[in-house]
Amino acid sequence: MSANYDVVIVGGGIAGLSLASALAGKCSVALVEAEQTLAYHASARSARQLIPSYGPPAVQELTHRTLELIAAQDAARPAPVLSPRSFMLIGDEATVKEQSSGHMRPITHAEALELCPALAPDSFSAAGLDTGSFACNAPLLLEDHRRHAEANGVDIITGARVHSAQRLGSGWQLGAGQEGFQAAVVVNAAGAWADELAVLSGVEKVQLQPYRRTAAIVDVEHPLPESSPMVAAADDSFYFRRDGGQVLISPSEHEPSGPEDAQPHPGDIERLVARLNTLTTLGIRGVRQAWTGLRTEAADGVPVVGFDAEAPGFFWLAGQGGYGFQTSSGIAEVAAGLILAGQGTSSAAGGNTAPGPASRTAEALAATRWSIRR
Ligand SMILES: Cc1cc2nc3c(=O)[nH]c(=O)nc-3n(C[C@H](O)[C@H](O)[C@H](O)COP(=O)(O)OP(=O)(O)OC[C@H]3O[C@@H](n4cnc5c(N)ncnc54)[C@H](O)[C@@H]3O)c2cc1C
Repeated sequence: MSANYDVVIVGGGIAGLSLASALAGKCSVALVEAEQTLAYHASARSARQLIPSYGPPAVQELTHRTLELIAAQDAARPAPVLSPRSFMLIGDEATVKEQSSGHMRPITHAEALELCPALAPDSFSAAGLDTGSFACNAPLLLEDHRRHAEANGVDIITGARVHSAQRLGSGWQLGAGQEGFQAAVVVNAAGAWADELAVLSGVEKVQLQPYRRTAAIVDVEHPLPESSPMVAAADDSFYFRRDGGQVLISPSEHEPSGPEDAQPHPGDIERLVARLNTLTTLGIRGVRQAWTGLRTEAADGVPVVGFDAEAPGFFWLAGQGGYGFQTSSGIAEVAAGLILAGQGTSSAAGGNTAPGPASRTAEALAATRWSIRR
């Protein structure tokens, strides 16, 4: 006997949970996660920064919308998800200029040093600043989505890997762990496994590539002040930011990987520590914790959101790359609009139906892909 839903979401990271929250109370929804805990993979491993000037135009648009939506919810929360934390790019003039877009504005060398006195003056020659950037309390955001979804009738099932999915009549039949599900719409929010899930569903891959990225929390002799921005090298060779009395650092690597429970490679963090101890006066003394996650991207770096044109009722919610948190609520709004609009039509795969409330962000995505492969 299979449980019957309008929508089954596969994947319990920020993508799946934010969509579950957006659909909650509007149709019947189950979210199925392979791991015993939600947000075990990429969504537990981020740097927790939302940067409006980061990414291609569609991503920047979705980030603005996400910030608006989270800020509106923050007004009613006892503790906010967002807190202001600027984002500063440093490097040589040409690279900083090339990497600056959106709200990033050039600042002088002296201004940059004032914002982050820990930087060695000769470690950069140019800088840009995005003051519209925010620190994100990612665990709180994830937990709020889970709570809101469950309170509004979403069934969340963990420890159940989807192992089979097939089109049956006008819907889908899924097998996950020991359970069976039927749904009009299946949402592929499987992160690094999204192409794998497509293949086991008999749907053509969209050629997503997971890339490794490592980060660590380190102890320092000279902690950064609370007001200090997140600092990133414009050539993508590192970033660091305050993390209470410690500092979060990353070598910003972008190495292809298969879908897996990624772990740090020996030496990656140690090499970065040695480098940062010459570029800054942080005085890094030791590594508390290091981790690696996968950022999964489509070839054009734009998230893959929409019904598959060739597989009715199969909805892609993947390829969020390094922007999964900063685009999450904007993407969930667009996706929920598409799914709810598609459900009321003769075909559940109504990928060309424009959603009303999210039309601005929808347009941003529509420029690149609206209905996958059409
Ligand atoms: C080091 C690092 C720093 C980052 N920093 C930021 C940042 O500052 N800001 C930002 O916006 N983003 C950042 N990101 C990116 C962000 O973390 C990701 O874009 C986001 O977490 C992706 O979410 P997701 O839900 O798509 O994937 P995931 O969190 O990986 O969730 C996918 C889930 O699907 C499940 N799944 C897969 N296959 C199946 C199956 N067959 N059945 C059931 N479940 C399945 C998996 O178990 C997994 O839990 C960072 C990423 C890394 C690695």
